[in-house]
Amino acid sequence: MFDYLIVGAGFAGSVLAERLAVGAGKRVLVVDKRNHIGGNAYDHYNDDGILVHRYGPHIFHTNAREVWEYLSRFTEWRPYEHRVRASVDGMLVPMPINLDTINALYGLSLTSFELDEFFRSVAEPREEIVTSEDVVVSKVGRELYEKFFRNYTRKQWGMDPSELDAQVTARVPTRTNRDDRYFLDTYQAMPLHGYTRMFENMLSHPNIKVMLNTDYREVEGLIPYGEVIYTGPVDEYFDCRFGKLPYRSLTFRHETVNTEWHQTAPVVNYPNEHPYTRCTEFKYLTGQQHPRTSIVFEYPGDEGDPYYPVPRPENAELYRRYKELADETEGVWFVGRLATYRYYNMDQVVAQALTTFRKIMGTKVPGRPPSVTARRAIADQPLAGSAGD
Ligand SMILES: Cc1cc2nc3c(=O)[nH]c(=O)nc-3n(C[C@H](O)[C@H](O)[C@H](O)COP(=O)(O)OP(=O)(O)OC[C@H]3O[C@@H](n4cnc5c(N)ncnc54)[C@H](O)[C@@H]3O)c2cc1C
Repeated sequence: MFDYLIVGAGFAGSVLAERLAVGAGKRVLVVDKRNHIGGNAYDHYNDDGILVHRYGPHIFHTNAREVWEYLSRFTEWRPYEHRVRASVDGMLVPMPINLDTINALYGLSLTSFELDEFFRSVAEPREEIVTSEDVVVSKVGRELYEKFFRNYTRKQWGMDPSELDAQVTARVPTRTNRDDRYFLDTYQAMPLHGYTRMFENMLSHPNIKVMLNTDYREVEGLIPYGEVIYTGPVDEYFDCRFGKLPYRSLTFRHETVNTEWHQTAPVVNYPNEHPYTRCTEFKYLTGQQHPRTSIVFEYPGDEGDPYYPVPRPENAELYRRYKELADETEGVWFVGRLATYRYYNMDQVVAQALTTFRKIMGTKVPGRPPSVTARRAIADQPLAGSAGD
């Protein structure tokens, strides 16, 4: 008899498995329908011997000391600060837009102070900020909007920024200095031996059994267990009875090329003329030395694995109905980004799982109010080719 059935071996499921087993002495069965642990953060050595992230680049960054210290029990780290370039007007320029971006793009030599003036001079003030287009145009003007944001957003979401709610591009991260780091968080690093090794360390405990290639419905009624931690899509748990929650998906095209390096930055964004949104070169992320190099291109679309909840008011309303059902369902905890229909970064999912563990144990939950987390989740979405993962 297991105390818990955990559906999903990603961050949400694995953190809760570890906490329940090690922190509370519970017996836990983790099932995942995929053939590996780690969820979307899964990495592996490909046929060419290069460590790659199957589901696109996963960069770890957080301001939460608790999350950092918790994960540090299962991995050593490799210091890593992420950098992105955007391919615009035949140049590769820093993203988020900074002083060097504007100077390179327009052949100028502005100072930080002058760049502030520049942004003010090109910004188109709007009386009311309703759409994502309003957010960007009112901050950096139409030309930069067209060059960096508009087409990227159309590719990523299949919708024009003028059709997307303002909350989607809640902030436009521009910098008037030369800082070209993509993230500014206190802790930025990659697991030294990769994510999958870190997950193996988390799940390696006599109280934890892992079953892969297993949909949880296959074991329901066959294996006795107490409560359920569910980290899959919330609509699927309820047989999509109100309809399917829409997601945006990605197709990944992985390639190994016969040169030591392929591009001059870890990630290059392609906002405009290419069908893909970005290309990642993994060796920058992992620090691996190898005579060849592996890259991945991302093609957004509507079909495929659920990656990004589509932030439209009607979807929020549909989720609210599922959430009501979830709240009424006794003995099942809905945790993680699919079960709560929200784009969360890895650190946010770890924080959510640690909080859920405290709730399960009946201890007081300290920490930030959820709205802060939620706001950051929105701000970090890859909505306009500017922020996010
Ligand atoms: C392209 C992309 C890039 C990203 N980059 C970053 C980044 O750079 N930095 C960052 O912090 N975050 C990033 N993220 C977010 C990160 O992937 C998530 O925060 C994290 O993976 C969420 O963990 P989770 O456990 O909630 O969900 P998941 O990792 O999705 O795990 C859920 C698991 O549940 C399993 N499951 C679902 N239904 C069933 C079922 N019926 N039976 C059994 N198993 C089931 C699934 O197979 C899956 O393995 C990125 C996400 C994407 C899509």
